[in-house]
Amino acid sequence: MGRTIAVTNQKGGVGKTTTSVNLSACLAYLGKKVLLIDIDPQGNATSGVGVNKGETQHCIYDVLIDDEDIKGVIKETKVENLSLVPATIQLAGAEVELVSTISREVRLKHALDDVKDNYDYVIIDCPPSLGLLTINALTAADAVIIPVQCEFYALEGLSQLLSTVRLVQKHLNQELYIDGVVLTMLDARTNLGIQVIEEVKKYFQEKVYKSIIPRNVRLSEAPSHGEPIIIYDSKSRGAELYLELAREVIKNG
Ligand code: ADP
Ligand code: MG
Repeated sequence: MGRTIAVTNQKGGVGKTTTSVNLSACLAYLGKKVLLIDIDPQGNATSGVGVNKGETQHCIYDVLIDDEDIKGVIKETKVENLSLVPATIQLAGAEVELVSTISREVRLKHALDDVKDNYDYVIIDCPPSLGLLTINALTAADAVIIPVQCEFYALEGLSQLLSTVRLVQKHLNQELYIDGVVLTMLDARTNLGIQVIEEVKKYFQEKVYKSIIPRNVRLSEAPSHGEPIIIYDSKSRGAELYLELAREVIKNG
Protein backbone atom coordinates (compact mmCIF):
# COMPACT_ATOMS: atom_id res chain seq x y z
CA MET A 1 0.00 0.00 0.00
CA GLY A 2 1.27 3.49 -0.84
CA ARG A 3 2.50 5.81 1.87
CA THR A 4 1.56 9.47 1.56
CA ILE A 5 3.94 12.03 3.05
CA ALA A 6 3.31 15.79 3.34
CA VAL A 7 6.45 17.94 3.32
CA THR A 8 5.42 20.94 5.35
CA ASN A 9 6.56 24.01 7.28
CA GLN A 10 4.70 27.31 7.10
CA LYS A 11 7.98 29.20 6.82
CA GLY A 12 9.08 29.93 3.27
CA GLY A 13 12.56 29.14 2.00
CA VAL A 14 13.36 26.31 4.42
CA GLY A 15 13.81 23.63 1.76
CA LYS A 16 10.32 22.12 1.39
CA THR A 17 10.36 22.08 -2.40
CA THR A 18 14.00 21.05 -2.65
CA THR A 19 13.26 18.18 -0.26
CA SER A 20 10.01 17.16 -1.98
CA VAL A 21 11.59 17.10 -5.43
CA ASN A 22 14.82 15.39 -4.44
CA LEU A 23 13.35 12.93 -1.97
CA SER A 24 10.80 11.93 -4.63
CA ALA A 25 13.46 11.53 -7.31
CA CYS A 26 15.76 9.56 -4.99
CA LEU A 27 12.93 7.23 -3.94
CA ALA A 28 12.24 6.71 -7.66
CA TYR A 29 15.95 6.12 -8.31
CA LEU A 30 15.86 3.43 -5.61
CA GLY A 31 13.14 1.66 -7.59
CA LYS A 32 10.03 2.96 -5.82
CA LYS A 33 7.01 4.20 -7.77
CA VAL A 34 6.47 7.80 -6.73
CA LEU A 35 3.77 10.43 -7.28
CA LEU A 36 4.85 13.98 -6.46
CA ILE A 37 1.96 16.36 -5.82
CA ASP A 38 2.58 20.09 -6.05
CA ILE A 39 0.04 22.05 -3.99
CA ASP A 40 2.00 25.30 -3.83
CA PRO A 41 0.66 27.94 -6.27
CA GLN A 42 4.27 28.94 -6.95
CA GLY A 43 4.61 25.61 -8.77
CA ASN A 44 8.31 25.25 -8.01
CA ALA A 45 8.13 21.48 -7.60
CA THR A 46 6.43 21.32 -11.00
CA SER A 47 9.21 23.18 -12.79
CA GLY A 48 11.79 21.44 -10.58
CA VAL A 49 11.04 18.13 -12.26
CA GLY A 50 11.08 19.70 -15.72
CA VAL A 51 7.38 20.26 -16.35
CA ASN A 52 6.60 23.56 -18.05
CA LYS A 53 3.89 25.39 -16.08
CA GLY A 54 3.00 27.57 -19.07
CA GLU A 55 2.14 24.51 -21.14
CA THR A 56 0.18 22.82 -18.38
CA GLN A 57 -3.59 22.82 -19.05
CA HIS A 58 -4.85 20.97 -16.02
CA CYS A 59 -3.44 21.06 -12.53
CA ILE A 60 -4.25 20.19 -8.94
CA TYR A 61 -6.65 23.18 -8.90
CA ASP A 62 -9.04 21.33 -11.21
CA VAL A 63 -8.98 18.34 -8.89
CA LEU A 64 -9.53 20.31 -5.67
CA ILE A 65 -12.08 22.84 -6.92
CA ASP A 66 -13.73 21.31 -10.00
CA ASP A 67 -13.74 17.66 -8.90
CA GLU A 68 -11.76 16.58 -11.94
CA ASP A 69 -10.37 13.03 -11.88
CA ILE A 70 -6.79 13.18 -10.62
CA LYS A 71 -5.79 10.48 -13.12
CA GLY A 72 -6.32 12.96 -15.96
CA VAL A 73 -3.93 15.46 -14.39
CA ILE A 74 -0.97 13.16 -13.71
CA LYS A 75 2.08 13.78 -15.90
CA GLU A 76 5.13 11.63 -16.42
CA THR A 77 8.54 13.21 -15.79
CA LYS A 78 11.96 12.54 -17.24
CA VAL A 79 12.80 10.61 -14.07
CA GLU A 80 11.86 6.96 -14.40
CA ASN A 81 9.23 5.90 -11.82
CA LEU A 82 8.40 9.53 -10.95
CA SER A 83 5.03 11.05 -11.89
CA LEU A 84 3.72 14.52 -11.08
CA VAL A 85 0.47 16.26 -10.31
CA PRO A 86 1.41 19.82 -11.32
CA ALA A 87 0.43 23.18 -9.85
CA THR A 88 0.04 26.37 -11.82
CA ILE A 89 -0.64 29.91 -10.67
CA GLN A 90 -4.35 29.11 -11.03
CA LEU A 91 -4.01 27.38 -7.67
CA ALA A 92 -3.51 30.76 -6.01
CA GLY A 93 -7.29 31.21 -5.96
CA ALA A 94 -7.95 27.84 -4.37
CA GLU A 95 -7.18 28.84 -0.80
CA VAL A 96 -10.11 31.28 -0.88
CA GLU A 97 -12.38 29.20 -3.11
CA LEU A 98 -12.01 26.13 -0.90
CA VAL A 99 -13.54 28.00 2.05
CA SER A 100 -17.04 27.70 0.63
CA THR A 101 -16.82 24.19 -0.87
CA ILE A 102 -18.28 21.04 0.65
CA SER A 103 -15.80 18.76 2.45
CA ARG A 104 -13.17 21.40 1.97
CA GLU A 105 -10.54 19.68 4.14
CA VAL A 106 -10.82 16.21 2.61
CA ARG A 107 -10.81 16.98 -1.12
CA LEU A 108 -7.23 15.90 -1.73
CA LYS A 109 -7.66 12.79 0.39
CA HIS A 110 -10.71 11.70 -1.61
CA ALA A 111 -8.96 12.44 -4.90
CA LEU A 112 -5.99 10.32 -3.83
CA ASP A 113 -8.09 7.35 -2.70
CA ASP A 114 -8.37 6.28 -6.34
CA VAL A 115 -4.68 6.33 -7.21
CA LYS A 116 -2.75 5.99 -3.96
CA ASP A 117 -2.27 2.26 -4.27
CA ASN A 118 -0.65 2.59 -7.72
CA TYR A 119 2.38 4.14 -5.98
CA ASP A 120 4.82 3.20 -3.23
CA TYR A 121 5.06 6.84 -2.16
CA VAL A 122 2.98 9.95 -2.67
CA ILE A 123 4.94 13.08 -1.70
CA ILE A 124 3.08 16.39 -1.26
CA ASP A 125 4.98 19.69 -1.53
CA CYS A 126 3.05 22.16 0.66
CA PRO A 127 2.79 25.95 0.37
CA PRO A 128 4.32 28.20 3.04
CA SER A 129 1.15 28.59 5.10
CA LEU A 130 -1.14 26.63 7.38
CA GLY A 131 -4.23 27.35 5.27
CA LEU A 132 -6.66 24.96 3.63
CA LEU A 133 -4.19 23.66 1.04
CA THR A 134 -1.85 22.51 3.80
CA ILE A 135 -4.80 21.16 5.82
CA ASN A 136 -5.79 19.13 2.73
CA ALA A 137 -2.26 17.74 2.55
CA LEU A 138 -2.19 16.85 6.27
CA THR A 139 -5.61 15.21 6.00
CA ALA A 140 -4.56 13.13 2.99
CA ALA A 141 -1.20 12.14 4.45
CA ASP A 142 -0.09 9.19 6.53
CA ALA A 143 2.96 11.09 7.70
CA VAL A 144 4.66 14.47 7.81
CA ILE A 145 8.23 15.46 7.03
CA ILE A 146 9.27 18.83 8.44
CA PRO A 147 12.26 20.55 6.82
CA VAL A 148 14.06 22.86 9.23
CA GLN A 149 16.71 25.23 7.97
CA CYS A 150 19.96 25.31 9.96
CA GLU A 151 19.78 28.99 10.85
CA PHE A 152 19.13 31.25 13.80
CA TYR A 153 15.45 31.01 14.88
CA ALA A 154 15.23 27.54 13.30
CA LEU A 155 12.61 26.44 15.83
CA GLU A 156 10.52 29.57 15.52
CA GLY A 157 7.02 28.83 14.31
CA LEU A 158 7.34 25.09 14.84
CA SER A 159 5.01 25.04 17.84
CA GLN A 160 2.31 26.52 15.62
CA LEU A 161 2.96 23.83 13.01
CA LEU A 162 2.84 21.08 15.64
CA SER A 163 -0.42 22.37 17.07
CA THR A 164 -1.90 22.35 13.55
CA VAL A 165 -0.76 18.73 13.19
CA ARG A 166 -2.45 17.92 16.53
CA LEU A 167 -5.68 19.61 15.44
CA VAL A 168 -5.71 17.60 12.22
CA GLN A 169 -5.06 14.42 14.23
CA LYS A 170 -7.96 15.23 16.53
CA HIS A 171 -10.55 16.20 13.96
CA LEU A 172 -9.59 14.90 10.52
CA ASN A 173 -6.87 12.27 10.46
CA GLN A 174 -6.22 10.32 13.66
CA GLU A 175 -3.46 8.20 12.16
CA LEU A 176 -1.25 11.10 11.07
CA TYR A 177 2.29 10.96 12.47
CA ILE A 178 5.57 12.79 12.08
CA ASP A 179 7.98 10.65 10.11
CA GLY A 180 10.85 13.00 10.75
CA VAL A 181 12.52 16.37 10.76
CA VAL A 182 15.10 17.01 8.06
CA LEU A 183 17.75 19.63 8.73
CA THR A 184 18.54 21.57 5.56
CA MET A 185 21.13 24.00 4.22
CA LEU A 186 23.76 23.22 6.81
CA ASP A 187 26.89 25.30 6.50
CA ALA A 188 29.36 23.02 8.24
CA ARG A 189 31.93 25.80 8.46
CA THR A 190 29.95 27.70 11.06
CA ASN A 191 29.36 26.95 14.73
CA LEU A 192 25.83 28.21 14.33
CA GLY A 193 24.93 25.18 12.19
CA ILE A 194 26.19 22.78 14.85
CA GLN A 195 24.30 24.67 17.58
CA VAL A 196 21.08 24.54 15.60
CA ILE A 197 21.46 20.79 15.06
CA GLU A 198 21.80 20.30 18.82
CA GLU A 199 18.85 22.54 19.59
CA VAL A 200 16.60 20.78 17.06
CA LYS A 201 17.70 17.33 18.30
CA LYS A 202 16.90 18.33 21.87
CA TYR A 203 13.40 19.29 20.76
CA PHE A 204 12.60 16.46 18.34
CA GLN A 205 14.98 13.77 19.64
CA GLU A 206 15.02 10.57 17.56
CA LYS A 207 12.65 12.14 15.02
CA VAL A 208 15.57 14.01 13.41
CA TYR A 209 16.88 12.19 10.33
CA LYS A 210 20.55 11.25 10.42
CA SER A 211 20.95 12.62 6.93
CA ILE A 212 21.56 16.37 7.28
CA ILE A 213 21.40 18.23 3.98
CA PRO A 214 24.37 20.54 3.41
CA ARG A 215 24.21 23.88 1.69
CA ASN A 216 25.24 22.78 -1.79
CA VAL A 217 25.50 24.93 -4.89
CA ARG A 218 24.50 22.06 -7.19
CA LEU A 219 21.21 21.72 -5.27
CA SER A 220 20.39 25.36 -5.90
CA GLU A 221 21.34 25.15 -9.60
CA ALA A 222 19.39 21.99 -10.42
CA PRO A 223 15.87 23.56 -10.48
CA SER A 224 16.79 26.00 -13.25
CA HIS A 225 17.64 22.96 -15.38
CA GLY A 226 14.36 21.27 -14.47
CA GLU A 227 16.25 18.34 -13.01
CA PRO A 228 16.37 16.73 -9.58
CA ILE A 229 19.89 16.53 -8.19
CA ILE A 230 20.18 12.79 -8.82
CA ILE A 231 19.97 13.56 -12.57
CA TYR A 232 21.68 16.96 -12.61
CA ASP A 233 24.75 15.87 -10.63
CA SER A 234 24.51 12.42 -9.12
CA LYS A 235 28.03 12.70 -7.67
CA SER A 236 27.34 15.87 -5.66
CA ARG A 237 27.06 15.99 -1.86
CA GLY A 238 23.46 17.07 -2.25
CA ALA A 239 22.63 13.93 -4.24
CA GLU A 240 24.45 11.74 -1.74
CA LEU A 241 22.59 13.14 1.26
CA TYR A 242 19.15 13.12 -0.37
CA LEU A 243 19.74 9.48 -1.31
CA GLU A 244 20.57 8.78 2.33
CA LEU A 245 17.38 10.55 3.36
CA ALA A 246 15.37 8.42 0.92
CA ARG A 247 16.89 5.28 2.44
CA GLU A 248 15.90 6.44 5.93
CA VAL A 249 12.34 7.16 4.80
CA ILE A 250 12.12 3.68 3.25
CA LYS A 251 13.45 2.13 6.45
CA ASN A 252 10.75 3.90 8.46
CA GLY A 253 8.10 1.91 6.58
P1 ADP B 1 10.63 26.27 0.34
O1 ADP B 1 9.97 25.32 -0.60
O2 ADP B 1 10.53 25.84 1.77
O3 ADP B 1 10.19 27.69 0.14
P2 ADP B 1 13.01 25.85 -1.29
O4 ADP B 1 13.21 24.37 -1.33
O5 ADP B 1 12.36 26.47 -2.48
O6 ADP B 1 12.23 26.25 0.03
O7 ADP B 1 14.43 26.51 -1.01
C1 ADP B 1 14.60 27.92 -0.96
C2 ADP B 1 15.81 28.31 -1.79
O8 ADP B 1 16.99 27.73 -1.24
C3 ADP B 1 15.75 27.84 -3.22
O9 ADP B 1 16.32 28.80 -4.04
C4 ADP B 1 16.58 26.55 -3.23
O10 ADP B 1 17.18 26.31 -4.49
C5 ADP B 1 17.62 26.88 -2.18
N1 ADP B 1 18.08 25.67 -1.47
C6 ADP B 1 17.30 24.77 -0.82
N2 ADP B 1 18.04 23.81 -0.25
C7 ADP B 1 19.34 24.10 -0.55
C8 ADP B 1 20.60 23.49 -0.23
N3 ADP B 1 20.67 22.40 0.52
N4 ADP B 1 21.73 24.07 -0.71
C9 ADP B 1 21.67 25.20 -1.44
N5 ADP B 1 20.53 25.82 -1.78
C10 ADP B 1 19.36 25.29 -1.33
MG1 MG C 1 8.37 25.63 -1.93
